[in-house]
Amino acid sequence: MAVEQEMAQIYPPDAEELSQYLPETDCGQCGFADCLAFAEALITGRTVPSKCPELDQEWVGTLASILALDKDPIPYNVMMEQEPCTLLEINNPVTGSPVLITSNFRETVRIMKGILQETSTSAFLLPVFTHGYSVDNAVHERMFKATEVWKGLKENAVEAKAGRNVMIIPGLAEKERNAIRQMTGWEVMVGPVSGFLVPLFLLGNRDAFR
Ligand code: SF4
Repeated sequence: MAVEQEMAQIYPPDAEELSQYLPETDCGQCGFADCLAFAEALITGRTVPSKCPELDQEWVGTLASILALDKDPIPYNVMMEQEPCTLLEINNPVTGSPVLITSNFRETVRIMKGILQETSTSAFLLPVFTHGYSVDNAVHERMFKATEVWKGLKENAVEAKAGRNVMIIPGLAEKERNAIRQMTGWEVMVGPVSGFLVPLFLLGNRDAFR
């Protein structure tokens, strides 16, 4: 078993992934050739979300908050620091609010909490035991385990609090989806690779979380 975590990445959104959360009509009304070019301009600070007239106000506000978030690299001296595997309730989630699964690496949890708080996103956030590995390293080291997801759900009585059995796992953990579904009996949705895009993923699936 590896005893040291590789340098954890924060996975800020790249233009290609961000463009998936734009209308993708390539209409050019924003002054750019297509949605991908607009996404690149957003990331490099050359435009603002409100320049796309196809986005509603909530989407514009959420996107602006995401772009303004601190995306500093994670310092090496905090590697493998662990967060308790306790369900976190961000922005007063209610029955039907989304259940997000993440690793118990303290920095991952801190960053995800910040993303949700700064975008006014209500959600349940469950860190599952990964020995303090970040999601990418946990998947690589086979520490993002379906059994730990199952344990986290049970020990925190998540189904009773969320009122449903649908979870969202990080895009980086996509290959564990079937194992988690079989172990827990929950429906498993795969979220974005970049945690910064989770609020837009939830907006895009808002009908599923009412
Ligand atoms: S205006 Fe919006 S939908 Fe049209 S190309 Fe620009 S980003 Fe895409």
